[in-house]
Amino acid sequence: QLHQKLLTLQPASGGPSKQPIEQVPLHELLTLGIGARQITPYYQPQVRITDGRVSAVEVLARWHHPKRGWLMPASFIGLAEEQGLIDELSWVVFDKAISQLGKWLQNGYDIAMGLNLSSESLTVVNLPERIDNLVRKNNVPPNHITLEITETRLMQNLTYSLDVLTRLRLKGFGLSIDDFGTGYSTMVQLHKIPFTELKIDRAFVHSASDDSTASAILESSAELGRKLNMTIVAEGVEDQSDWNKSANAGCDLVQGYFIAKPMSADQFDIWVRQRQVAGG
Ligand code: C2E
Ligand code: CA
Ligand code: CA
Ligand code: CA
Repeated sequence: QLHQKLLTLQPASGGPSKQPIEQVPLHELLTLGIGARQITPYYQPQVRITDGRVSAVEVLARWHHPKRGWLMPASFIGLAEEQGLIDELSWVVFDKAISQLGKWLQNGYDIAMGLNLSSESLTVVNLPERIDNLVRKNNVPPNHITLEITETRLMQNLTYSLDVLTRLRLKGFGLSIDDFGTGYSTMVQLHKIPFTELKIDRAFVHSASDDSTASAILESSAELGRKLNMTIVAEGVEDQSDWNKSANAGCDLVQGYFIAKPMSADQFDIWVRQRQVAGG
C-alpha cells in the first residue's frame, strides 16, 4: 500500500521540498496538498428509483497530486483523521463542492448534495455555524445539504456528536446515517439522533440477489427507515438485479456504478445532458 510504503521511509535532514518525493512521508505531502487545495470533490449521482430522475449527488474526495496523479480516499482519509488534518481537508472539499452546488442551483439545476462528515469533526463545536455560513455565502438552502456520518464510528463520541448533530438539524441540514447495517448499536443511535436519511451499506445491496441474509438486512433496514420517516438510499447498486432488489425493498434513491461512477463537475454536466437527450 502506497501510504504504508511512504510512511516507512524516513525523511532525510532538511526541508521536505529538497527531498525526492518518494522520501517525503505521506502525511507531509498531505499537509502540503491540503494547503495547495489539491483535494477536489467528485460527484456521484443519486437517482429516484421511481422515475430515474437525479435527486442529489454525493461528494467524494479525490486528491490530485501533481506527481503522483489521482489518489483515492482509502489512501488519505484515514491518514488525515490520524494526523488531525481531517477538518482542514473537509473544509477544502466542502468549500469547492458547495460553491459548485451554488452554481448548479443558480443555473436552474435543482439538486441536493450529500457531504461526508468525519465523526472526528463532530467535536468541533462551531461546525454548524461554519457550515451554515458557507451555504449562505453560496446561496444554497441548508435543506439542499445532507451530512453523511458513518455509523460504525459514531458511537465513539456520541455525547459531543449529539450536540453538534442536533444543532445542524435545527439549522435545516439533512443528516444521513452512512453504511447502515455495519454498526452494532444502530437502534440506540437512530433513537437519539434526528437522522433524515438512511444509506444501506453496499455490502448488503450488491449481494442481496444471491444471499438471503443480505437480502433480509436490505429489506428490514428499508422498512425501519420508512417507519422512522427517513429517505432510504441504496448504495453500491452495480447491476439491474441490485436495482430491482432495492426497488422491491422500497428504497427511495439508488446510487452506484450501474447508474454512474463518481465524476468531476464537468463530467457530471456532460452526463446529465446526455441523459436528458436520451430521455432517461
Ligand atoms: P462512502 O461514503 O461509503 O462512499 C461510497 C464509496 O463507494 C465511494 O468510494 C464510491 O466511489 C464507492 N461506490 C459507489 N458506487 C459503487 C458501486 O456500485 N460499487 C462499489 N463497489 N463501490 C461504489 P470512495 O470514493 O473510494 O470513498 C471511500 C470512502 O472514503 C467513502 O465511503 C467515505 O467514507 C470516505 N470519503 C470520501 N470522501 C470523503 C470526504 O470528503 N470526507 C470524509 N470524511 N470521508 C470521505
Ligand atoms: Ca458516504
Ligand atoms: Ca457508504
Ligand atoms: Ca448483485
